[in-house]
Amino acid sequence: MFQKILIANRGEIALRVLRACKELGIQTVVVHSTADADAMHVRLADESVCIGPPPSRDSYLNIHQIVAACEITGADAVHPGYGFLSENAKFADILAAHNITFIGPSGDHIRIMGDKIEAKRTAKRLGIPVVPGSDGAVSDEREAKRIAADIGYPVIIKASAGGGGRGMKVARSEDDLIQALQTASTEAGAAFGDDAVYIEKYLEKPRHIEVQVFGDGMGRGIHLGERDCSLQRRHQKVWEEANSPALNAEERARIGETCSKAIADLGYSGAGTIEFLYEDGEFYFIEMNTRLQVEHPVTEAITGIDLVHEQIRVASGGGLSVTQDEIRFQGHAIECRINAEDPRTFTPSPGTITHFHTPGGLGIRVDSGVYSGYRIPPYYDSLIGKLIVHGRNRVECMMRLRRALDEFVVDGIKTTLPLFRDLVGNPDIANGDYDIHWLEKYLVETVE
Ligand code: ADP
Repeated sequence: MFQKILIANRGEIALRVLRACKELGIQTVVVHSTADADAMHVRLADESVCIGPPPSRDSYLNIHQIVAACEITGADAVHPGYGFLSENAKFADILAAHNITFIGPSGDHIRIMGDKIEAKRTAKRLGIPVVPGSDGAVSDEREAKRIAADIGYPVIIKASAGGGGRGMKVARSEDDLIQALQTASTEAGAAFGDDAVYIEKYLEKPRHIEVQVFGDGMGRGIHLGERDCSLQRRHQKVWEEANSPALNAEERARIGETCSKAIADLGYSGAGTIEFLYEDGEFYFIEMNTRLQVEHPVTEAITGIDLVHEQIRVASGGGLSVTQDEIRFQGHAIECRINAEDPRTFTPSPGTITHFHTPGGLGIRVDSGVYSGYRIPPYYDSLIGKLIVHGRNRVECMMRLRRALDEFVVDGIKTTLPLFRDLVGNPDIANGDYDIHWLEKYLVETVE
């Protein structure tokens, strides 16, 4: 087991990882920018190292500074959290070259999944269902027309190097296609320095369903069920739940088995999430995230398994603590992402939190690094906390969520809490009846 883990992240996830390390009796080092000197995880860590000024590229993305902090403090492993360097293959390789363990998969697996065309090819080879489309990049207009006619309109053009929903264009007919191809390719070139694009069937009303997987790096793979993250705004998840209201037990077991087998065959090590669009009973792979996800607590709630403990165990060579047969899915869990944003326009609202009171009671978990008097720096993303609620079934979970939202107090800044108070009373949400476009439509229709 590791002696000392360096946490290369900030905010609620840095605190989340710190808690797991403390439970396992592992010493902790956190790195932080000058803007985060008074953050809660910095106060609670055994050691902290300031690695630079506020902009992420000079601190949380500065590989040299982070490796230097490992050397100075004698950390033997790094947990990257999510975002920042968590899916940076070069970072994983550099740490390995310094004999520091990256708590995550190999650089090669990160690289494969970071390239969307390569990821899709790999998924297909591993028996994971993918969206019908081109076999690789498409540059020639005639070829594009032939493929689109083959799979049928509408189609979506996506950037191979894509991320964050950028470089995507929908074409509803051959007339749109050439324009969409050019726009997507130009956008991809500008955003990612790589103009390769590919074509897929466009699904009109899918849900976003993702499967949590784990590999032990020694040929064993398990799945921990799915999460439904269909409630999104601009491709950003807002509300996540497990299980998905749309799946039955047989579908759940089938997609889970497909994913765990793929992970085993790949020889994958650590936590991963295989993301799908789901429509009319079919799953279509869109991407795999090779890291811990923001929404991992809903899986923890229904399985009782601490995913960060599991990541640390696997990375230290200790293997997984559970077998597939031992995993039991119990009850229902929902996570609301509480952002320091206007609840309607989603404009960031940094500033000082004058009063912060979190709900409690059975089935309530709040993961947050903020406190009364905390000043939210304007440099980073606006997630200030996550409310995770568990109940024996979805109805009980929703009742408890409504009560917890009423109890939550964040004064001094705007937050997305009022949006969740509206959503929890909405009949479609109560029925679990929503797709990936539902929230955007709701926001337009209910604008004051
Ligand atoms: P990114 O990595 O840029 O986030 P993804 O491939 O994960 O790109 O897709 C982001 C979102 O775009 C999906 O969650 C979905 O809303 C939409 N999308 C992607 N592919 C399709 C498709 N084939 N049909 C319909 N919507 C899609």
